[in-house]
Amino acid sequence: MIVDVLKASKMIQKGDVVAIPTETVYGLAADAMNAEAVKKTFQLKKRPADNPLIVHISDLDQLDSIAKTVPPAARKLADAFWPGPITLVMAKDARVPDVVTGGLGTVAVRMPDHQMALHLIRLTGPLTAPSANRSGRPSPTRVSHITEDFGNQLAILDGGDCKIGLESTVLDITSKTPKILRPGAISKEMIEKILETNVQERVGEYEEKPSSPGVKYSHYKPKARVIWISTIPDSVNNSTYYLIHSDSKEFKQTNVIGYRGNFEKMARELYDQFRTADHLAYSFIAVESLPANKISPVLSALRDRINRAAG
Ligand code: AMP
Ligand code: MG
Repeated sequence: MIVDVLKASKMIQKGDVVAIPTETVYGLAADAMNAEAVKKTFQLKKRPADNPLIVHISDLDQLDSIAKTVPPAARKLADAFWPGPITLVMAKDARVPDVVTGGLGTVAVRMPDHQMALHLIRLTGPLTAPSANRSGRPSPTRVSHITEDFGNQLAILDGGDCKIGLESTVLDITSKTPKILRPGAISKEMIEKILETNVQERVGEYEEKPSSPGVKYSHYKPKARVIWISTIPDSVNNSTYYLIHSDSKEFKQTNVIGYRGNFEKMARELYDQFRTADHLAYSFIAVESLPANKISPVLSALRDRINRAAG
């Protein structure tokens, strides 16, 4: 069910949940200060209760009621990147319900770069908005992905296709060395330039006791098996859907998608391609290994999501 911003705001104020657009992926929004409403998003998604949510804000003033103190690094990063795809983990203000943070003493916050979302949050106040997919499925980057997972009953604010297509960078700024808990479109190098300090990036896969609870769960998984390939075969396999980025060849086959070095486009379409491959009942999704050099800031996030889908 498609709703407009005003209707969405009224529903959220009543404690209902509404799917909302952001520049990264669609979120399942609830009033961040209403514990009962937030619980509904966990139930709808079947999300484990220890996987905390991101609080979305529209104005910097709202930070004061969410974070206990706002460190100088947060001001600098907000200034440089908000509204935009970076989430900051800070000490939590007591007013934020425990259900939002899975009982943690920290809270994750960001300001999404989407006019409809910002307009809505100005009407409702801060919103939690985990990706609007069932837990374990690829995140939704267009309205049809949401109805695929939840049917037509869920209220949706239609903001078009998401322009980034991968979830935000999650940066922990609670300790001296900032740490990337989840890579996103804002890269380590971009953050280091603003903070003028080294930033740690978690490169290993699943940690024993993860600092970001979400990273231990399998995410972004299509039904087809995702595999990495280092070379593109001369004759392609009919049961495989290929995502290729090198521009060395022209492909006529409909099961080979070529990105010709456009990694931003590849990121934007990744989850849609996963879902498309499933609709067409391919057994495998073969993704060409990504280059090690940092020619695009989104490469680290792309690699992370494909690794998880393959893992
Ligand atoms: P999603 O809303 O599905 O994009 O997931 C939010 C991500 O942020 C998950 O990986 C969470 O584990 C992470 N996150 C949220 N809050 C915190 C927090 N307080 N500390 C560390 N990671 C967090
Ligand atoms: Mg998610």
